[in-house]
Amino acid sequence: MLDNLKDAVRKFLGSSNYDKAVNDFIKELQISLIKSDVNVKLVSNLTQKIKDRLEKEKPPTAIERREWFISIVYDELSKLFGGDINPEITPKKIPYVIMLVGVQGSGKTTTAGKLALFYKKKGYKVGLVAADVYRPAAYDQLVQIGKQINVPVYGEPNNTDAVGIAKRGVEKFLSEKYDIIIVDTAGRHGYGEEVKLLEEMKNMYSEIKPDEVILVIDASIGQKAYDLASRFHQASPIGSIIVTKMDGTAKGGGALSAVAATGAVIKFIGTGEKLDELEVFNPRRFVSRILGMGDIESIIEKIKGMEEYEQIQKKMEEVMSGKAKLTLRDIYKQLIALRKMGPLNKILQMLPGFGVFSQIPEEQLKLGEEKIKKFLVIMNSMTYKELDNPSIIDKSRIRRIAKGSGASPEEVKELLKQYQVTNNLLKMVKRRKGLAKLFEDRN
Ligand code: GDP
Ligand code: MG
Repeated sequence: MLDNLKDAVRKFLGSSNYDKAVNDFIKELQISLIKSDVNVKLVSNLTQKIKDRLEKEKPPTAIERREWFISIVYDELSKLFGGDINPEITPKKIPYVIMLVGVQGSGKTTTAGKLALFYKKKGYKVGLVAADVYRPAAYDQLVQIGKQINVPVYGEPNNTDAVGIAKRGVEKFLSEKYDIIIVDTAGRHGYGEEVKLLEEMKNMYSEIKPDEVILVIDASIGQKAYDLASRFHQASPIGSIIVTKMDGTAKGGGALSAVAATGAVIKFIGTGEKLDELEVFNPRRFVSRILGMGDIESIIEKIKGMEEYEQIQKKMEEVMSGKAKLTLRDIYKQLIALRKMGPLNKILQMLPGFGVFSQIPEEQLKLGEEKIKKFLVIMNSMTYKELDNPSIIDKSRIRRIAKGSGASPEEVKELLKQYQVTNNLLKMVKRRKGLAKLFEDRN
């Protein structure tokens, strides 16, 4: 269901009637989220926030309204799924004991294997403990997984004392100087049984004192995830959450928003049955995937470019008022920022009349993409000293720079001339006391 959003973004970006497109998109967004099990209240909060921001905020210069709108949607959706928190996946200390909890079938045993493989690949020495004594084949299942990834498994196939097994398993691996120990536990369905299960979790928790308890939740559980997470949390403090089977359902939104609402951090998501199908969960990356990676990335890049551009503009104003000196480094930054923003002619049409660049380096603005690339390569061959102080660039330096960048000496000179033109224009503006005057003169 969330998959539909990619198409909606595409359609929106290509639409002609902005206001109608905004309304259509918001409706589509609501439907998709609700169909994906995201809580209705969260959905209406989200759309209200988007609408408020549309009203109160203004798109940055040179950013199209449509793109700006999508960036707001991206922002607010990311907040819904956990915001800017990047999960801490490096163990805070060594050795590190992890206890996995969750209902039966949620994917604990598989996830134990996935985690073991994940950390093994990172160079940690990992051990697995099979502390599910209720499912007859549970021990064998974990042993199988351990074999696949070449990680040792501790278990006592004929013993039913789960807490004791967990304790002895952890102790054994600790004495053998393992870095990360992962304890797989039982989980049973059914009313009444759950009380017993939670009791066992509590005992196990106080016996093995894990450094972290991870709750494993099946994505298809939907909004019940909230309840489940809080109940488990009372038995043993849940440090983080792994949502499994994100591949099998389009309804992952429920589990994600519910656990996000409990304040728990989603660390990983499971995206398949295979042991390497585990991903570190990053809300922004997750949302950009929902909305269409390519589109989102280019919009975000553009907005970043615009911010950098505004910084340079400030510097140019300082140059004009005589407070700062123009360097090639400024030109370099300016070209980089401009490139991030997309085709030059399009940006220029959107810059307000008083923008420094829309007035001054006209020749520079006529530069094509190719030339910009060339100039950047040339500047990459300059030293910082040369970039900050272009007047020291003499004939021999020109030759060296040309050689280093694969350009001709004429091209290097052209760049230097460009710098001179910009510098002179800025000085001229300074003499005329302000841009407004120049703007009038030129019209
Ligand atoms: P446990 O009872 O909590 O230990 O759950 P299991 O690890 O035995 O997993 C139950 C089923 O879910 C198995 O068939 C797994 O292969 C499957 N499973 C686990 N994680 C994922 C996942 O991320 N994606 C998919 N598609 N299946 C998964
Ligand atoms: Mg299991």
